[in-house]
Amino acid sequence: MSYASAFSPNYSTARNRFCTAAQSLGCRLETYPIEQNGSDGEELSIDVAMVGSPHPQQIVVVSSGLHGVEGFFGSAVQCALLEEHLVDWSATQGIGLVLLHALNPYGFAWRRRWNEDNVDLNRNFLLPGEEYRGSPEKYHDLNWLFNPTSPPSRFEPFLIKAIATIVRHGITSLTETLPVGQYDFPQGLFFGGHRPSKTYEILQANLTRWIGEATNVVHIDFHTGLGKKATYQLFIDDPPDSAATQWLRENFGHQIVTPDKLKGNAYKIRGGLGSWCQAMFPQCNYHFLTAEFGTYPVLQVVEALRAENRAHFFAPPHHPSPEWTRQRLVEVFVPADLAWREAVVSQGLDLVARAIEALGARAIA
Ligand SMILES: [Zn+2]
Repeated sequence: MSYASAFSPNYSTARNRFCTAAQSLGCRLETYPIEQNGSDGEELSIDVAMVGSPHPQQIVVVSSGLHGVEGFFGSAVQCALLEEHLVDWSATQGIGLVLLHALNPYGFAWRRRWNEDNVDLNRNFLLPGEEYRGSPEKYHDLNWLFNPTSPPSRFEPFLIKAIATIVRHGITSLTETLPVGQYDFPQGLFFGGHRPSKTYEILQANLTRWIGEATNVVHIDFHTGLGKKATYQLFIDDPPDSAATQWLRENFGHQIVTPDKLKGNAYKIRGGLGSWCQAMFPQCNYHFLTAEFGTYPVLQVVEALRAENRAHFFAPPHHPSPEWTRQRLVEVFVPADLAWREAVVSQGLDLVARAIEALGARAIA
């Protein structure tokens, strides 16, 4: 199988492929509609496939599409797993696999990063007691740059404006402001929502049952759009000198596991899914890896997000910008380049194999 062929052209195809492959492999399959429709009127859902030992002590969770459009990649890894890599797999070591397909089906189907309420779902999982309000200090000052209230044009000099802002305020004004998550601008980039999302509710109602009595979990959440092209990094929330970090580094590579997102040239976020899952299972070794696969330079990615968001909210009827901005968004998050596609699916599969191996070793020990 060519790994590039694991990519689907749209959400519906990806979903059908995932469900069909899961069924032919004999997985338990569950479907959770989100009460939204795609562009062809199709019902949108989160689909969950479970395979392996019925009451596993060790579980590998593989999730895709928390950021909508990024789901083309995560779904490709899941489909390649189900269609090929798990066919001869026997879970003799008490390991279970839980595959969560399209955690943001709306964004996947409509080719957006955000969900049906313009929410970045990886900023929506606030911990109990945290409030859906507030923004980084400079977001208010830079709102004019991030979120202009007009449709985009193809030749707007965003890069010049962004570079001028960086020169004036420093690069941290962007990296510590824009992607952190904000709760005050519902039409703005990186909006975390005003309440728990449908995806939040579905996970809250079911994750405990999917995880069951497992004592060790490795959860790989697939993302794209950050880092060097066709390579990946694993971001974790565990403290740098903890036993969990040590174990992850030993099993997934010292250079690849990055405990401190700021040092890794990324950023600290609010409302991330990882911290929320870990807080939900305090009695369990719940290792959460945000697997980020690089595509294009970060300013190019931000520029594409910004243009698509402007088109979404401010394009008049029959304006061309919604279509070209979505096409560009797909390209910056899921490049059409076959070499990129081959490389990232291969690396994604290797990552899942490493997780199974690491937990298998733990089960035997
Ligand atoms: Zn992402």
